[in-house]
Amino acid sequence: MATVYFMELRKKYDEDILKVFDRLVDAAGGMQVVQKRSPTAVKLHIGESGNINYVNPRYVNRLVDLIGESGGRAFLTDTTTLYAGRRFRADLHIGLAREHGFDFAPMIIADGLYGDDYVDIDGAKVASLFGHIDSMLCVSHFKGHLNCGFGGALKNLGMGCSAKGGKLEMHSKSKPYVDDGRCTQCLTCFEYCIHDAIKKDKDKVRIDMKICTGCAGCMSVCPEGAIRFSWDAVSSELQKGIARYAASTVKEKKIFCLNFLINISPNCDCFHTNEPMITPDVGILASFDPVSIDQACYDLVSDAIDNLHPEIDPTEQLQFAERFGAGERKYELKSI
Ligand code: SF4
Ligand code: SF4
Repeated sequence: MATVYFMELRKKYDEDILKVFDRLVDAAGGMQVVQKRSPTAVKLHIGESGNINYVNPRYVNRLVDLIGESGGRAFLTDTTTLYAGRRFRADLHIGLAREHGFDFAPMIIADGLYGDDYVDIDGAKVASLFGHIDSMLCVSHFKGHLNCGFGGALKNLGMGCSAKGGKLEMHSKSKPYVDDGRCTQCLTCFEYCIHDAIKKDKDKVRIDMKICTGCAGCMSVCPEGAIRFSWDAVSSELQKGIARYAASTVKEKKIFCLNFLINISPNCDCFHTNEPMITPDVGILASFDPVSIDQACYDLVSDAIDNLHPEIDPTEQLQFAERFGAGERKYELKSI
């Protein structure tokens, strides 16, 4: 049974809140994942442009300092998005990270400039950077989610650590397609696709579904946003995909997770708007087990999450993740 450490924010502390945070990380043994004089990945979500609910950079900055004090060299990392926005390509993403206050450590986008750089781990398209490391810190904002009920560490490790093609596989039951109304037939995608899956037929550009691997790189290079996909995966399929990808990401790695039950919004940080919070701040949790920590967070705010989307069973992602070997649901909660 994993231990989940809990820093409550519904009680008063007579000390600097970042010192309490230090005590949380120390009690949980978080710096065990740091290898001296080696790069140490801090996986996070920097928030979409217009969103301010993401994890406060001051906490992440303190974590980077703690990694440095432990002899490691911290860098921040995230992946490109499937949808077109300010995190769609690596260069845009890094610029937004700076705007959102994540300017105190190097930022490396884990799936490359166009989001097509991945390693295959048990059939999952995991962003290539995560194939080169054997430990990492996973900083997650726990909040509601439109299709999964909630998003926490599993979502950060599954969806958040996948390359664009992995995100496509989880969100969609089909491959990308060309929107004829937008396509100017510039053939940029044709030149880009190393699988020769893009064909020019008479006056049309199309994707040969039999050849296409679903890497989704062509979506990033199209200057017109003409390569589209369907968001047609239902909740169970999405939760199962996230769990499978999370299990692939954590395989043979030591992961230290920090979940922030703060600014508990109804939707994820990919939303560019801010809506009323669904419940007051609860605190920060820490554990080496991504399943236990998400289970503990869900147990603390299950009423608010269940009221949000009564039609969704958000425990499916926990059940699948446990079955795929990402961790276990049983935990012991220890307040610091
Ligand atoms: S057509 Fe398919 S294989 Fe080619 S770049 Fe696009 S998604 Fe990848
Ligand atoms: S890159 Fe976009 S606009 Fe150019 S041919 Fe491909 S789909 Fe059409």
